Amino acid sequence: MWDVDGNDYVDYLLGQGPSFLGHANATVNQAVHDACGDGMLYGNSHVLEVEAAERICSALGWAEMVRLGLTGTESVQAALRLARAATGRRRFIRFEGHYHGWLDNVLVDAAGTGPASAGQVGAQLADSVVLPWNDAEAVAAALAEHHGQIAALIMEPIMVNAGTIEPRPGYLQRVRELCTEHGVVLIFDEVISGFRVALGGAAARYGVTPDLATYGKAMAGGWPVAALAGHAHLMERFGTGEVNHSGTFNGSVMAAAAVVATIDLLTSDPPYERIAEHGTALMAGLLELADKHQVPLRVQGVPMAFHASFGPREPVTDHRELRNLDLARYARFAEVLAGYGVWVAGRGIWYVSAAHGPRELATTLERVDDALNESGA
Ligand code: PMP
Repeated sequence: MWDVDGNDYVDYLLGQGPSFLGHANATVNQAVHDACGDGMLYGNSHVLEVEAAERICSALGWAEMVRLGLTGTESVQAALRLARAATGRRRFIRFEGHYHGWLDNVLVDAAGTGPASAGQVGAQLADSVVLPWNDAEAVAAALAEHHGQIAALIMEPIMVNAGTIEPRPGYLQRVRELCTEHGVVLIFDEVISGFRVALGGAAARYGVTPDLATYGKAMAGGWPVAALAGHAHLMERFGTGEVNHSGTFNGSVMAAAAVVATIDLLTSDPPYERIAEHGTALMAGLLELADKHQVPLRVQGVPMAFHASFGPREPVTDHRELRNLDLARYARFAEVLAGYGVWVAGRGIWYVSAAHGPRELATTLERVDDALNESGA
């Protein structure tokens, strides 16, 4: 990546994740360009929208129907509305540290306790019951306490937004069972993990099937599109008009063409092993440099999207333990790294793409070494 002054960067921010195939993937961009040559929007379904839905369903394996949208934020809201319609219940369960978009009923401040924005209708947060994540007993207790009132349970099945924390063995399975038992719609928010931690996302990686799931980012080579996928018995409520989900630009030709071309690339030449190799080597290289310079830099997570911070090396398994880490020091270090040509998020996520190779790995580690050597952390 180059800035206006001609400085180059190795980019591990990837536009907050979508450039999973690298910037400006030529195949995806050509497919979008070709498709748009005939027109871009028709106010009705285009054949590419159907093909995109078919690609998504076959990549996921469990989903039967799809609705394309523009943003993850919007697809999450469609999922919650659908769950309410299907259950006739209003409230939903969400988790500390999980991000589900910027709207009033899901946006919380850093402490996780209140609204995060001026102008936000904080009262809407009362529609949800907030629990610590990775604790199945907390879910069991909340479902018992609010029996018959909970429409949905929504989570990032791997909590990338706060620390890249993986689910404990058996946690997702237990939550799946509890949701089934209580008639609660299980929603996986896979806007980050979808098509990234595996073609089938976290559901495939951990072998647990939700009722609905949201996707975006890695699904379309950087083009603006999101999706809600799910079981037909729920999703068909959109088709009948019982549940509204609208949007002028939903399912546009460019969005659908980008999804088709991206999923075709991800299936014909899967980059997952290459990305995992790069991410694993990068994580190990960062730890080596931390030892060399005697700084408490730590990493954890999955190689496609890991988290770096300062603090003890023991794995963090819960959002509350993130408080033991020095996130502010890391945010300052991310700014130092930018000066050395490594572009990362101040909040700690390192996204790895299919375009990162041995050359980028070597350059990155050299630059981090220089940054630690000359500027410290
Ligand atoms: N859900 C998750 C898990 C996300 O990480 C994000 C965005 N970072 C969203 C939803 C919202 O997506 P968007 O920014 O496309 O609205």
